Amino acid sequence: MDLKPYLPRELPPPLEALSVLALDLRWSWNHASDELWRLIDPDLWEATGNPWLIMQSVSRERLDTLAADEAFMSEFQRIIRDRAENLAETTWFDRVERGEELGLVAYFSMEFGLSESLPIYSGGLGILAGDVLKTASDLGVPMVGIGLLYQQGYFRQAINGNGEQLAYFPFNDPAMLPILPLRDASGSWLRIQVELPGRSLQLRCWDVQIGRTHLYLLDANHPVNNPRDRGITGELYGGDNETRLAQEIILGIGGWRLLEALDLPVRVCHLNEGHAALAVLERAARAMPQLDVDFVTALRATRAGNIFTTHTPVPAAFDRFDPLLARQYLEPYATQWGIDLDTLLDLGRGVSDGADAPLNMAYLALRASGAAFGVSRLHGSVSRALFAPLFPRWPLDEVPIGHITNGVHTPTWDSQAADALWTRACGKARWSGEIKPVAEKVAVLDDETLWNFRAQQRHGLIGALRARIALQRANRGEPQDRVAASVNLLDPNTLTLGFARRFTGYKRPNLLLEQPERLARLLSDPHRPVQLVLAGKAHPKDGPGQAMIRQWFEFIRQNEALSRHVIFIEDYDMALAAELVQGVDVWINTPRRPWEASGTSGMKVLVNGGLNLSELDGWWAEAYTPDVGWALGDRAEHDSDPVWDRHEAEMLYQVLEESVIPDFYARDARGIPQRWVARVRESMAHLTPVYSTNRMLREYVETYYLPAARAVGNRLARGGEAARALQDWARRIDAHWPAVRIGGANLGVEAGVLHVDVQVFLDDLQVDDVCVQLFANSVEADTAPERHVLVRSEPLPGAVNGFHYTAHVATNRSVADYTVRVVPNHPLASIPLDSRHILWDHE
Ligand SMILES: *Cc1c(COP(=O)(O)O)cnc(C)c1O
Repeated sequence: MDLKPYLPRELPPPLEALSVLALDLRWSWNHASDELWRLIDPDLWEATGNPWLIMQSVSRERLDTLAADEAFMSEFQRIIRDRAENLAETTWFDRVERGEELGLVAYFSMEFGLSESLPIYSGGLGILAGDVLKTASDLGVPMVGIGLLYQQGYFRQAINGNGEQLAYFPFNDPAMLPILPLRDASGSWLRIQVELPGRSLQLRCWDVQIGRTHLYLLDANHPVNNPRDRGITGELYGGDNETRLAQEIILGIGGWRLLEALDLPVRVCHLNEGHAALAVLERAARAMPQLDVDFVTALRATRAGNIFTTHTPVPAAFDRFDPLLARQYLEPYATQWGIDLDTLLDLGRGVSDGADAPLNMAYLALRASGAAFGVSRLHGSVSRALFAPLFPRWPLDEVPIGHITNGVHTPTWDSQAADALWTRACGKARWSGEIKPVAEKVAVLDDETLWNFRAQQRHGLIGALRARIALQRANRGEPQDRVAASVNLLDPNTLTLGFARRFTGYKRPNLLLEQPERLARLLSDPHRPVQLVLAGKAHPKDGPGQAMIRQWFEFIRQNEALSRHVIFIEDYDMALAAELVQGVDVWINTPRRPWEASGTSGMKVLVNGGLNLSELDGWWAEAYTPDVGWALGDRAEHDSDPVWDRHEAEMLYQVLEESVIPDFYARDARGIPQRWVARVRESMAHLTPVYSTNRMLREYVETYYLPAARAVGNRLARGGEAARALQDWARRIDAHWPAVRIGGANLGVEAGVLHVDVQVFLDDLQVDDVCVQLFANSVEADTAPERHVLVRSEPLPGAVNGFHYTAHVATNRSVADYTVRVVPNHPLASIPLDSRHILWDHE
């Protein structure tokens, strides 16, 4: 799929292909093209990072000059050639066995962080989504993204002289963004319609190209809509609940309709968080006429192709809607789909919730999916507890939520120097092959190479930060001499700590301020100085978050010396994040466990040789070893106990004072800090490839996408024969389960063998509808529980549909560890997602 050159203006003929380059967001991770855009318009490139804007606004005269410039033209042609070659390469996915069964993955997300020049993201969730699409392009995974185009995106931050956060909402002019209107086969602008109470809404559709991948965006700002509705897609995470629900209808239902309108062969629908959960209901509705079945059967058929990633570790963060609001907005859909509104709403309610319970989008997503997973090992287990109420009486280990730890798109976050270093060590195609050889090749880089590289990275950052502070001061209207004095801030040889993230309670952005004098002492030590760079936004409605920003400003203002060592940079976005993760020596992260579901910013420093000092939460809980960085915490949860916070602050100062600072300044005869460099090498070699979206997306494909595509293919085959059978089975189970009964169970151990004989009455179920199992909890955490299938033997005398079930199991555990249970069984069903009944002996 290539874009036809689209020209909003006339370009000199030799430069016509510039529009193809400008519209392919591959420039957001391809360092080679940075130079090209910088050459065309250095100021605009620095200020916006937006090639499409540059291409449209540069003067004709400048373009003619460039077209006649041999050096420029040869670079331009090299990049065009490079792009063509890249697109023609055989990808990882081309080599996946039976990969064609995947069809196409539709990846739904409320936000996408692809580049600061397309500001439709807020934080981690969006960055992950952007990194997924870029990696799908690299690996050749057939995928399209579905998202919303916000007229104002997420707020932009400035901070006044008193440390108060100011929020601004500059307008996202679609003509300036690197996107095009999406056209249908006839060439007219594609338009999608969704229903809102009493009216319908017309949606505009946009196309973003990301290498081999496309992202389609929807927005409500069509002049045919009423003025109020045109603003529905105004802000990301702004507005009231009603606006949010309307946004989610646009994303989910509108998004699925867009896929249908383009006639794309989507097999797998991946919900990045619950916001887009309505997509899978629309998917089911579209399957109804094709299969000639009711809504519930159509959902049974299609759900096997839906995957849900859950991102939050706290139930309060689930996306929930007031039941009255949900009724009002979903009524038109329930009517269209021929189902009772309460049947629809029940999909998003807890098992024992009444009609007044809110509509929980995460519940809805899980109930309508064929598989679900969290974003780190720890978060997987936290999520099983969160969703356990949907599976009453099932052991926690069997709540159907797995995990795939997040990663980052390495080429987006590496610096040009890091790219060069890795290319020298491992070659160009390093992020698309095997992980092990990469690690081995980096592991042999010598001390001097690594230390020079680190120094170069830090120097680059200090220069960029000085320029940012100068601009920040000028924007605040500070006197010219203060602006000019920005060049005296920071020092390129000083240990540089970075702390940048959302300012909100659980991230504890003020933990370092617990003992301000101690921090001040540590920063201004004349022999072993330390400098600290801070950044982060607090949500405009988060008062305590904004107070923490003010607290840092007050600390910095204490004295002139400190203000040279500690700086706060406004308006944390992807561009600033990239600068920081490329240059800092240590990235600090202090969340309260287990509230950082994964965290990804710390992964971005890996490729650049930065080190992590972090709470043992999220990804760091599985990545940390003493030879790659530093840890805080004791691997236990302490909620928001202020005593524990103080204790961890103490640990944080100690780690800095006793390990981080001494190791950085302990130089050998050559002037190299050996212990430091050893950590850099280990962290680069062993963590970079693992905590990459390259590893992550391959896991998505192998663990979830391909099995989901096959499962949904089976259910849809032959007019949905299997789905009908499954639905009949599920109804049969529902009807007869209450009468299923376990009679007597005899368990006894003899010479290391457990003999089991149990009597089970099946009511009117067929013998294959259920499975009788012997169960024992796992002995160790994170291992599977013990399960053995009992074999049906002779019928019970005098009973209808009652049988003996027996097993003989070698064991060294006590009889008391074991219990017998009956669970639903069907070869195509996913248990307990397709049927959550369970019957235990002695219940
Ligand atoms: C990577 C990134 C994030 C996510 O970082 P966390 O580790 O979740 O704090 C947030 N915002 C921006 C701008 C980022 O680049």
